[in-house]
Amino acid sequence: MRRDNREKASTPLAGLAGRVRVLLDAVQADLLGRARKFLADNTTRVASWAEFKQVMADKRGFLVAGWCGEPDCEAKIKEETKATVRVIPLEGHARPGACVRCGRPSPQEVYFAQAY
Ligand SMILES: [Zn+2]
Repeated sequence: MRRDNREKASTPLAGLAGRVRVLLDAVQADLLGRARKFLADNTTRVASWAEFKQVMADKRGFLVAGWCGEPDCEAKIKEETKATVRVIPLEGHARPGACVRCGRPSPQEVYFAQAY
């Protein structure tokens, strides 16, 4: 029985190793696909502070927005929304712009979320 989707199947002992390899590949692909869909469904790119506050209050999840990198600015964001910077991508996500909270230059977008 697969523990990820509860599907049961019988397999003869002969050829079991090959069958298990195929099933493990399928389990890996299914779990990865589910995780990617969950991440995409729960990530929202916001363009303004008003939108940031609204999405954080209504939908939550991850918010992608520009951030100036200043600790005092993050403290104000946390004070107003309980959200903090969760991920600062190291590569591939550089989208320079303005900080969603204070408008100062933002070298790249970052991921915000509430802590629980
Ligand atoms: Zn800022």
